[in-house]
Amino acid sequence: MVTGKNYIGNSLSAEGTINFKTFNPKTNSENEFIYVEASDNEINTAVSLAKSAYKEFQNISGQRKSEFLNVIADEILALDSELIKMYCSETGLPEGRAIGERGRTVFQLRSFADLVKNGSWVEATIETAIPSREPLPRIDHRKMLVPLGPVVVFGASNFPFAYSTAGGDTASALAAGCPVIVKSHPMHAGTGELVSSAIIKAAKRTKMPNGVFSNLNSRGIEVGVKLVEHSAVKAVGFTGSITGGRALFDLANKRKEPIPVFAEMGSVNPVILLPEAAKQRAVELAKIYAGSITLGSGQFCTNPGLIIGIKGEALDNFTQNLANEIVKIEPTCMLHPNIIGNYERNKEKVLSQKGVNIKADYENKVESNYGRQVVLTVEGKTFMKNKTLHQEVFGPFSLIVQCEDKDQLVEIIRNLEGQLTGTILSDKEELNNNKEIANALQNRVGRLIYNGVPTGVEVCPSMQHGGPYPASTDSRFTAVGIHSIKRWVRPVTFQNWPDEMLPDELRNGNPLSILRFLNGEETRDKI
Ligand code: NAP
Repeated sequence: MVTGKNYIGNSLSAEGTINFKTFNPKTNSENEFIYVEASDNEINTAVSLAKSAYKEFQNISGQRKSEFLNVIADEILALDSELIKMYCSETGLPEGRAIGERGRTVFQLRSFADLVKNGSWVEATIETAIPSREPLPRIDHRKMLVPLGPVVVFGASNFPFAYSTAGGDTASALAAGCPVIVKSHPMHAGTGELVSSAIIKAAKRTKMPNGVFSNLNSRGIEVGVKLVEHSAVKAVGFTGSITGGRALFDLANKRKEPIPVFAEMGSVNPVILLPEAAKQRAVELAKIYAGSITLGSGQFCTNPGLIIGIKGEALDNFTQNLANEIVKIEPTCMLHPNIIGNYERNKEKVLSQKGVNIKADYENKVESNYGRQVVLTVEGKTFMKNKTLHQEVFGPFSLIVQCEDKDQLVEIIRNLEGQLTGTILSDKEELNNNKEIANALQNRVGRLIYNGVPTGVEVCPSMQHGGPYPASTDSRFTAVGIHSIKRWVRPVTFQNWPDEMLPDELRNGNPLSILRFLNGEETRDKI
């Protein structure tokens, strides 16, 4: 049952005076519930509860954190159709997508539950003492990863489950031992409150400290800004636009004590279409790419917004086929009026640039909030000179760049901003003959795709979701998969520390039976 209130730790609270509603883009009308933005007092209480919860939570066993995460997953599933209906009413997305994204979210929670139950993730590394070493004895050193402290999470509007309230950032931070304060996305405040109710139920059922989780409503940016500026907050997870992520990154760096901001932001996900592939598979690739560009109305950070090829009959043929295919697809509803407004504005901005031509534009009349797909072309020389053409247009949009030759194509790749993904469409021989293209692309992206589409991010340990700036603020980390836990921890070394005072992970008897690096070898052995 939605109340419109904030979760300040385990308590519902609505002290504030600013109210707002969410919006159903399908019916083009406001939803019924009224949400109350968190007051300054509620922000401060949530952070101080998180700070005191951290004292206990940081030392809670992996087994208990694992139970907590599994029970969150169970409680989310128990919300059943109430949650799915709320998600659909706040996004306009179909029920199938909501159920799929809920499955992904539950899977993420359970993956982190398994990870922390096993315990080896802390990278316990031990060098035992060698008193007889010459010229100096070696002292006992033992290192492991420990949680940073309270984390603030901002989710994006296009993933109300998987990159939001109980999404990857929250799941990985809780798994690490960090309390979480979510700055709820105003466009899906109801979904956020329901998911928060599941987290709070789970926290109570598994006897987690009050303050391990809070959920704050906000209509604008002020609540988020105050949270990032709060001295007790030790890290930030953000998924959203480059503007938002960069603003929070700058804010965190201006603090007296700067803190890390792991921002996952926009990307144009360049696709390199090599001539042989264009010649042999133009029809098939055009069909696949029409589907990928329009998937979810293009509202994915992995949307293929840029296709780069070498001028000629094969590229023209692919372009024409893509244009024919893409207009056959019925436009779908976008997430909210701001997103569609930005899409139309950014599309028009690109269209107004010199040298940009329309190849396909869905011209039939569409209902309010529906995103009309577009495919544009531009010459390589023009693209290189005009940075406006390099920016993400979030929606069903793709720009095809026609290069003069291979040298220009490599030059363009080298001058792209950092990206989440880069794709090469070619056969093996062609790829082998164009290694400099693959090398140039590797330097700009976090995930290299061969003969596929960038949309679709598998949740698995080998996934890298994050790339050089501005795709992410720190390309050394991933936002998806179990390794994302590393964003919320730091290493600590215990030197010559008494065995009985060490964390279980580092003790001589290895009571958790975890894998450790002991004197240079990976083992579960006791010392
Ligand atoms: P958004 O407008 O940046 O919003 C994300 C969150 O950040 C919201 O809670 C928003 O709060 C807050 N925010 C934005 N600007 C802020 C600022 N200056 N100060 C404080 N808080 C701020 O993003 P969106 O429109 O929801 O999502 C679409 C974008 O997300 C696209 O660019 C897409 O590529 C990107 N995305 C990236 C990934 C990834 O993994 N890399 C995944 C999904 C989406 P308010 O709404 O209250 O302003």
